[in-house]
Amino acid sequence: MKIHEYQARAILARYGLPVVEGDVAATPQEARSIAERLGRAVVLKAQVHVGGRGKAGGIRMAATPLQAEEIARELLGSSLKGIPVRRLLVAEAVEIAREFYLGVVLDRAARRVTVMASAEGGVEIETVARTRPEAIVRVTADPFLGLRGDQARSLAFALGLRGAQALSFAPLAAALYRAFLENDATLAEINPLVLTADGEWRALDTKMVLDDSAWPRHPEWEALRDPEAEDLAEAQARAHGLSYVKLDGEIGCMVNGAGLAMATMDTVQLYGGRPANFLDIGGGARAEKVAAALRIILSDPNVKAVLFNIFGGITRCDEVARGIVAALEEVRPAVPLVARLVGTNEEEGRRILQQARLITADTMAEAAQKVVALCRGGGTSVW
Ligand code: GDP
Ligand code: MN
Repeated sequence: MKIHEYQARAILARYGLPVVEGDVAATPQEARSIAERLGRAVVLKAQVHVGGRGKAGGIRMAATPLQAEEIARELLGSSLKGIPVRRLLVAEAVEIAREFYLGVVLDRAARRVTVMASAEGGVEIETVARTRPEAIVRVTADPFLGLRGDQARSLAFALGLRGAQALSFAPLAAALYRAFLENDATLAEINPLVLTADGEWRALDTKMVLDDSAWPRHPEWEALRDPEAEDLAEAQARAHGLSYVKLDGEIGCMVNGAGLAMATMDTVQLYGGRPANFLDIGGGARAEKVAAALRIILSDPNVKAVLFNIFGGITRCDEVARGIVAALEEVRPAVPLVARLVGTNEEEGRRILQQARLITADTMAEAAQKVVALCRGGGTSVW
């Protein structure tokens, strides 16, 4: 889950990171009163999940509270790269001497946490990585020792910092690392991390992505959700206890079990198809859950055919089949459906599906081949 800048900065402030004074506003009047309270020039920042807000006009300076109100009126309700702006962070404006980048990311390939820094802050780090990869320095934290003091200092030196500035940089890297770890983040980033004219550090822009797999141990995350920014299908999937990830292929996949879902996607690919999603309906899925899953799959306009691959263990095939039929009556899909059901009550399950005139298959390979062929042929539904 991506969280907004104003939410990330609240978390990072608790770790001692030097975020600037400010507050979030949903109306021009609120923006004005925050600016009045701060009593100095402010920056108004659109709280939307897009990078490069500065260039897109989503970061604006205001010298007076009145101007803050005027700019807020322009920004609120407008949209930035297609996303409506509902809230603004109103923060004190900082005089920037130098801009740095500091980030903590999960390096899945190395199975380690990497701390990255660059003296070329302010621009999107992906751009720096592409154009000047040597301008990014990295250290890998040991999972048991964490980010060591010497590693944090080596980052500072690699950035060209010396003396007091190098010494004051190291604790910032340590704090960001700790915030990343303790909040189960997959990304924690400060860009830019700036040095002011007085040689003070300020975290001007903060970003965090939280690891969805860690929801069960973070009841407090519920309050961080922004339903408007969430993908509708993914939100519905969560509400029904389904794990769903949208992909960009054409074959919708409904599977019980994460491992089987992976194998199904591989098999579809093997026969030349492209999965439209990963979807695990979980064990013991009942009819309504199956119906919800089917609605979610079909809400994707790219889906040209759907493959059900069910292994009946705890989940009974007849129950799933009834779920499919119930869902079909409700959703009336315009695409062909192929089902492969094996395991508990498979005969009954298959009978129900055949009555409903679904295409069935005995093996996973056969099912994948059939669904790929139907997808290719622009197969029409029997419905
Ligand atoms: P982003 O474009 O979405 O990454 O938004 P940022 O919050 O990083 O702002 C973009 C750029 O605006 C920064 O890199 C700064 O150069 C500039 N900026 C943001 N806040 C301030 C501020 O308080 N003072 C000054 N002088 N520039 C700022
Ligand atoms: Mn930024």
